[in-house]
Amino acid sequence: MLRNSVLSIAKRAYSSQPVISVSKPVEGFIGALGNTPLIRLNRLSKETGSNIYAKAEFMNPGGSVKDRAALFVVKDAEEKGLIKAGGTVVEGTAGNTGIGLAHVCRAKGYKCVIYMPNTQSQEKIDLLRMLGAEVYPVPAVAFDNPENYNHQAARHAKRLDNAVWTNQFDNTANRRAHIETTGPEIWKQLDGQVDGFTCSTGTGGTLAGVARFLKEKSNGKTKIFLADPPGSVLYSYIKSGGTLIERGGSSITEGIGQGRVTENLKPDIELIDDALQIPDADSLKMIYRLLDEEGIYVGASSALNVVAAVEMAKKLGPGKNIVTILCDGAYRYQSRLFSKKWIESKGLTDAIPEHLKKYATL
Ligand code: PMP
Repeated sequence: MLRNSVLSIAKRAYSSQPVISVSKPVEGFIGALGNTPLIRLNRLSKETGSNIYAKAEFMNPGGSVKDRAALFVVKDAEEKGLIKAGGTVVEGTAGNTGIGLAHVCRAKGYKCVIYMPNTQSQEKIDLLRMLGAEVYPVPAVAFDNPENYNHQAARHAKRLDNAVWTNQFDNTANRRAHIETTGPEIWKQLDGQVDGFTCSTGTGGTLAGVARFLKEKSNGKTKIFLADPPGSVLYSYIKSGGTLIERGGSSITEGIGQGRVTENLKPDIELIDDALQIPDADSLKMIYRLLDEEGIYVGASSALNVVAAVEMAKKLGPGKNIVTILCDGAYRYQSRLFSKKWIESKGLTDAIPEHLKKYATL
């Protein structure tokens, strides 16, 4: 009797809770990829009068949007017979593709070799090594220099038997990941009501792939904005209608900004309706705002994307559904982004409002 009444109280208590969607068990690391939540950012939505939605790519099993591309480039190499059991995957990466690849390689039994610019955070290098990858941090030089990390990765793969350089920048299996997974997920999550999509680019796979899918599904109605950090050439490329202007300046953001139009971006560059350039101060402030207001802990490229989504909402007018990407979590950068000293060294102390300074605890 007592047990029954306790059960009925418990039932009532549970039925008043929000519904939690439960998914079926999945097959290993690869089965856990994708199907990330689309989070409505409540405070920013209220401020703009539009719905600002952010796709939580940091919830992929390897922790970033690049898990998707990592799986697709490895599958592509397998399908083309470029790698066989026990082989080696070699890649040049700012870190996240490497981390995705290191996971995929462990899951599939491949070795993983990573070349990355030595400007990237120590956290990413440490994680890659913990995942069993062989890591070569090399001087950060431009793509036209033969010592650029990508060319070094390509040469490394050539020296080995049964090895492939997955070439994420120009291998269009990367953008296919987003045409076949990220784009359709966003479309489904919003029942096709997507007025705008904006994100930054490293390889351009995410922006181009999602743009291609959304433009096709919406008959061209979904607006696409590029979000670019300082020092990248793509903002001026879009704004000038296709002129590549020499790169200048730098940014605290990692993994984004580009000095050329990659093969992933090329087929879809005409789908981009406009471009926004987001100063580092705005991105840094947004990292802290997202933490304080939404309890969301993400890195600088995610924050830059959210700033761009807010600007896009203002440009398109109220009542719209604007989508962007939360590329990865802040754990990968916390020794920088939450360090008072580091922030000061970048001249960005004033970017963080007084009431948010308490989060800079390192
Ligand atoms: N954000 C972060 C943190 C990244 O590492 C990357 C990829 N380098 C991107 C965004 C950009 O993604 P994509 O390569 O698809 O343009």
